[in-house]
Amino acid sequence: MKILERNNFHRLFDVLKESGFDIIGPTLQDQAIVYDHLEGVEDLPEGWTDEQAPGKYRVKKRNDKALFGYVVGPTSWKKFLYPPRQKLWSAQKAGSGFEVAAEEGVPQKMAFLGVRSCELAAIAVQDKIFCGGSFVDPHYKKRRENVFLAAVNCAEPKGTCFCVSMNTGPRALGGLDLSLTEMIEGERHYFFLRSGSAEGEKVLSRLPLKDAEGGQQKKEDALLEEARRHMGRAMDTRDIKRLLYDNPDHPQWDKAAERCLSCANCTMACPTCFCSTVEDVSDLTGEHAERWRKWDSCFSLEFSYIHGGNVRQSTKGRYRQWMTHKLASWQDQFGTSGCVGCGRCISWCPAGIDITEEVKAIRADQPARAESP
Ligand code: SF4
Ligand code: SF4
Repeated sequence: MKILERNNFHRLFDVLKESGFDIIGPTLQDQAIVYDHLEGVEDLPEGWTDEQAPGKYRVKKRNDKALFGYVVGPTSWKKFLYPPRQKLWSAQKAGSGFEVAAEEGVPQKMAFLGVRSCELAAIAVQDKIFCGGSFVDPHYKKRRENVFLAAVNCAEPKGTCFCVSMNTGPRALGGLDLSLTEMIEGERHYFFLRSGSAEGEKVLSRLPLKDAEGGQQKKEDALLEEARRHMGRAMDTRDIKRLLYDNPDHPQWDKAAERCLSCANCTMACPTCFCSTVEDVSDLTGEHAERWRKWDSCFSLEFSYIHGGNVRQSTKGRYRQWMTHKLASWQDQFGTSGCVGCGRCISWCPAGIDITEEVKAIRADQPARAESP
């Protein structure tokens, strides 16, 4: 483990830029901390934090100058790996026919700075979805192959976090190039750094680092243990697949549907949701046409339209589909949970619907079951 002093933190930006990366990370915009392109340290949300609760997200000033003193906001890295709008191909009239050109632009190398452990887990889930089966998404794959992941360990979980329940945090472990832990001790402000790959090691080798001393590992351990004990929420995941499969008619689905607006916010904010639709557009001359892929949601009526009608006409049906997919059928489909415990769907639901409370309500009147995988 190495130490990078705060006053040398700009060197990380220099090294990443010199290595050809477009740096994406947290920045304050419109009263929220969102991920966007960063030019330098000054773009980070220094001295800002967030407060989160069901249906509530606020930024506020901290009483220190932490650079990563917040958790996760409305955007996730999925926006950069799997963009909300993606051109798939275009067709241009040529003589009596059309010439079709696939969209094959090679994206710039991106460095994601400030990835949380739950978000690493979400990226791993989307890797399985887009690249893990027989059909590989070439657009996702190209972007993913060019990404450097610099993770930040979470020291201060917020009210809607439950990564501990989902085994995804708060310490960033696998699937990263670099991990950072921000330390502020009175006047001293520094970072513990570790590499997680050969690329990470190369970046570390170019930074002005010091070796961490014996007792410093304990400080980091204590900080992350404190974070582990202060999760805003918990979800009991024991036997959750069977719990949801056995309860398609539980009255809690009606209660959730009474509140749910079917607005799709939860699916847009979720770092693992991946539903999409395609749209064909043409210009007014009719000589040029394009096919675009756009994010869609299981909460939109059109998404579940199959010839002749919609298979999930009620809000109850759509909410039940979303939650059962996230926590149960996702396991059958991809061998993992579709939820990483980031809490975004709770904070950004205008009705304040909380997935952990919904599971609790369904579990409450179940006979005790033996644990099973
Ligand atoms: S379902 Fe909610 S808590 Fe789970 S990963 Fe998606 S947004 Fe985060
Ligand atoms: S659960 Fe909340 S965020 Fe999701 S569709 Fe319903 S109202 Fe919108």
